[in-house]
Amino acid sequence: NLITYTKEEHRLPTGEINKAAKKIISRLVDHGFEAYLVGGAVRDLLLGLHPKDFDIATDATPDDIKNIFKGKCRIIGRRFRLAHIYMGSSIYEVATFRGSDPGDRVIKKGQIIRDNVFGTVDQDALRRDFSCNALYYDVLEESILDFADGVRDLKTGELKLIGHPGKRFIEDPVRMLRAIRFHAKLGLTLTEEMQQSIIQHRQHLINVPAARLFDEMVKMFHCGHMEIAYHVLRELRIFDLMFPVVAEILEEDHRWDAFLIHAFKNTDTRLRNGLSVTPVFLTACVLWVQFIPIYHQLCEAGKNAHDALHEATTEVMVNQRDMLMIPKAIQNGVRQMWMLQLRFKKMYGKGVYGTLHHPRFRAGYDFLLLRASVDDSLEAQDEFWTNIQSMAPEAVKSLIFGKK
Ligand code: ATP
Ligand code: MG
Repeated sequence: NLITYTKEEHRLPTGEINKAAKKIISRLVDHGFEAYLVGGAVRDLLLGLHPKDFDIATDATPDDIKNIFKGKCRIIGRRFRLAHIYMGSSIYEVATFRGSDPGDRVIKKGQIIRDNVFGTVDQDALRRDFSCNALYYDVLEESILDFADGVRDLKTGELKLIGHPGKRFIEDPVRMLRAIRFHAKLGLTLTEEMQQSIIQHRQHLINVPAARLFDEMVKMFHCGHMEIAYHVLRELRIFDLMFPVVAEILEEDHRWDAFLIHAFKNTDTRLRNGLSVTPVFLTACVLWVQFIPIYHQLCEAGKNAHDALHEATTEVMVNQRDMLMIPKAIQNGVRQMWMLQLRFKKMYGKGVYGTLHHPRFRAGYDFLLLRASVDDSLEAQDEFWTNIQSMAPEAVKSLIFGKK
């Protein structure tokens, strides 16, 4: 049951639609294909937000798309093959409509492992996750095609899965994380039924490849409303599943909760102010909770601080690996940020220069401030590393060499 909304009815701010995305759509239409703006962009524009990216759906196959856009196009993905089109400095995702015919779709234990079965726009709509993500904007007609009552749900502010929640969550457990992210970011309500369904099916997340889970977790970290997302993740016991050791420690010692909430608020604020963020920071914050007891244990067992730090870091990463696969580059960043915390203790001698000029000083320093906000014993370090940044070279010299 398709509802079509005309320009006068939907009031979507058409001026905000990305020019390059429009051009890609027109080009596909000129070649005789159907093409729409779809997903997050249509949803966000209807909500009066600025879309983060502009995704396109079409009946052209990846090969058709490649033929039309030639060198500007790359086919990516195995699980879900789609085309990336390069325009200016941006990448646009162009996905071929997925069909309802099972065909050679690969399903294991109810989970869709691969979906490259093509179909029509109405079929495509029904295999999307939420009703508000299944809206298609027709650039030429300036109309919205709504196959799943998404416009109505956006008006009432409800996040609704298309189809049966249990079945859709088993098909792709990542939808549970997406639900929490859209709830936090867009303020859409998670119904009681949806929450229960998430609690009931949360274990299925274990079957999702650990690399994909980490990617999703980073999207959550950087959704701009991670403080809210964190509370929901704890409440629905998804956090326990993703970070089992951290969750256990949080239960025993509530001070860490304050630390994490502080960290999430910090990132939310940075994003609101248009500052850059890196996945290293929040990964380091969350895993710090797990790192500290291991580190102290190793120190008490007689290891020197440096070795204890590296051993504890490795242990944390290994513990976490089954659930979330953290890319090597990010692991290294986390290790460096933690190492800086050790260096911050040394507030004299020429090592201070090395610390100040460390490539991760900024992130490490922000991390120190965060720790200091829940630990009074770090006040001296906080003060030292804050002041030294704005001191004249001569003053720094007498401070760090005079102190010894
Ligand atoms: P945002 O880009 O703001 O995070 P989005 O809704 O655009 O949100 P994308 O990951 O860019 O999210 O996906 C684009 C669209 O593809 C979604 O709106 C949805 O229609 C569909 N989609 C994405 N992931 C899934 C999934 N796991 N299951 C079903 N449909 C999905
Ligand atoms: Mg998107």
